[in-house]
Order: sequence, then C-alpha cells, then structure tokens
Amino acid sequence: MKAHLVLLPGDGIGPEITEQAKLVLEKVSQKFGHDFDFSSHLIGGIAIDSTGEPLPEDTVAACRSSDAILLGAVGGPKWDDPSAKTRPEVGLLQIRKELGLFANLRPIRLFDELVDASPLKREIIEGTDILFLRELTGGIYFGEAGRSGEAEEEAAFQSMVYSVSEVERIVRLAAKAAQGRQNRLTSVDKANVLEPSRLWRQVAARVMREEFPDVEYDVVLVDAMAMHLINRPRDFDVVVTGNMFGDILTDEASMLPGSLGMLPSASLGAGGPGLYEPIHGSAPDIAGQDIANPLATILAAAMLLRHSLQLSEEADAVEHAVAQVLSDGLRTADIARGSEAIGTVAMGEAVIERLSK
Ligand code: NAD
Repeated sequence: MKAHLVLLPGDGIGPEITEQAKLVLEKVSQKFGHDFDFSSHLIGGIAIDSTGEPLPEDTVAACRSSDAILLGAVGGPKWDDPSAKTRPEVGLLQIRKELGLFANLRPIRLFDELVDASPLKREIIEGTDILFLRELTGGIYFGEAGRSGEAEEEAAFQSMVYSVSEVERIVRLAAKAAQGRQNRLTSVDKANVLEPSRLWRQVAARVMREEFPDVEYDVVLVDAMAMHLINRPRDFDVVVTGNMFGDILTDEASMLPGSLGMLPSASLGAGGPGLYEPIHGSAPDIAGQDIANPLATILAAAMLLRHSLQLSEEADAVEHAVAQVLSDGLRTADIARGSEAIGTVAMGEAVIERLSK
C-alpha cells in the first residue's frame, strides 16, 4: 500500500514522541512491503512563533491531501499569556473542524504488566478493554448560548441539540467498531431527563435494529455509567455517547490504567483523513530530556494503521510489540514506579526491535 502521512509534532515532547512513532511506521512499511511517505508541518505554539497562526494554511492543505495525520501535542507555558492574540490549542480545535472530525475514539486498554499502576484493585480492573466513541462536533458544546437579565435576575443558557443524522453516523461507526471487537455496544445517554437524549436513544435503537441486528446492544444512563466504570469496567466493549457525556466519561476512564503515557486516541470524519494522537499534553516539564513515554503515540500510530489504512494485521503487530516490551520489563520513568527506566529513544528502538522479529 502507498500512503501519504502528515506529521504534526507540535510543542514540548511532541517532536520526540512523534519521531519514535514515525520510525515505528517506517519499520511497519518496510516489514509488510508498504510505501509510506511522510511530511512534517507546523501546528500549535511553534506555528505561532514562525507564522503568527496556530494552524497555518499550508498545514491544513497538507492534512486535507493526506491519508492520515499523526499529531504529537500542542501548548506550553511560553504561549500561556492570557492577553495573547491566539493560543496553541486553537490550532487543534481548528484542524478538527476543518476536517469534519465528528467522532473521537479512545481505547482504554489495560496492559497486564501495568495492572498495578491502576488506582483500582487488580480484581476489578484486570482485563479491561473498552473503546469509547464520543460525538465531537455537536451537542451542548456547540449549542446556542446566551445571557439575559441583570443582577440577581441574570441567567445563562446553552442548548443541547442533536439531529437524527448526527446520531446515526456516530452510532454506525460505533457498531462497525463493535463488529471488529467483541460485538457489544453500549449507548450512554440521559433519556430520563433530556429531550436530545430521548432522540438519541430512539435513533440509536432504530439504527441497531435495522442495520446491526447481530451486535449485542444496551443503553445505560450517564450517571449509572460513571459508577459502572469504577466498579465493573470489564463488562464493557464499545461505548458510544454524546459530546459532553463523552468528555467527562473518557477522562474518568483514562484514569483507569493509571498512566497517561500509554493512551492513544483518534478523531475520525466522514471519509477524509483521520487524526491520531496521544491523549496526554505536551508535558513541557520533561521536554527535550529523552524521558517522555512514546508508547501512547506509537499506539496512536497503530490506530492509524487500523482505522485509516485498514491494515489491521500491521496494527496488531505494533500493539503486540508494545505488549512485548512491557512484558520484557522495559519501562520509561512515568511507568517505572521506582525501578530502572529507559529513555524515549531506547523505548522506540525496543518496540522496533520486537517488530523486526
Ligand atoms: P500533560 O499531559 O502535558 O502533562 C501532565 C503530566 O503528565 C506531566 O507531569 C507530564 O510530565 C506527564 N506526562 C504527560 N505525557 C507524558 C509522557 N508521554 N511521558 C511521561 N510523562 C508524561 O498535561 P498538562 O501539564 O496539564 O499540560 C501541558 C500542556 O499541554 C498545556 O499547554 C496544555 O494546554 C497542553 N495540552 C495539550 C493537549 C493536546 O495537544 N492534545 C492535551 C492536553 C494538554
């Protein structure tokens, strides 16, 4: 396969971790006989420094004409001035909007070797493997907002709106993802209180009944889901939900594995290139020291292979190589828990070495 991949290293540890993920993708391309070519573009603080904009026009153009995009992270204290004209994070929001990325996929997978890093007890957390799909471009975060009245009478509102087509497209994507996993889908809403949730529930049920009768399907209220994630996370396979509920639940779920440096995510749209990134930020406190954990970005590269290039064997190989380095006892400082740690480059090399076997 021939594929053109855009790298957006960004700020802080972004360039270090993206470089390791690129080397892993090059190894995959060589091992499986593909032809991947890469181009690197500016986003975030570094883009503001060189062009004045967090998302320069040529970055958008390069992303649009690519097969997939791998992003490091953006932001840092250098660009934190509240009076600044723009901010690095604006680049991230803009690129999602430009590419119509309506679905955020966040796998919460626990590697056996890191079970003890979880704040939960082993017997609860062991075997957890959930894929969250959060709707990313609709719902209350994009609803009409405003204020009226004065003093004690001043009030604020923000509307939560979902259309049938918005619900259909994310539920379809989630159901397809479930078919490639354990074939179970849970939809999370607040249909006992909210009208948009009642529409969400009706549409989701119809899509599942008419198009995915083979997928085991259930619904859970968002407040109950917040509890289930803590006391029975193993029971879920794929979970689909709206923008705000997804924002909160995915952050709750990302704490389950106990390490930010291990979790990838993907943002997908309707047919265009997907955007893949680690869930952590630019970690300016450790930038440039060769101590950042590159595994979340390497796992994001595995998601890119699976979801944008449909190369599931290759994605499995990368995930397997990551599991292998962990079972061989290799750790970066964030997951070493006081034992000996290796650096960013050495961790990348270790994954590539396992991939070569
Ligand atoms: P952060 O995720 O960057 O860091 C939180 C803590 O986790 C830090 O101690 C950091 O050293 C550590 N950490 C994060 N990733 C790590 C890795 N791969 N290996 C080892 N340790 C790691 O969050 P923050 O400190 O709140 O934010 C720093 C900057 O990143 C801010 O400017 C913020 O706006 C930005 N940010 C960007 C994104 C993104 O680009 N998607 C996401 C979150 C935060």
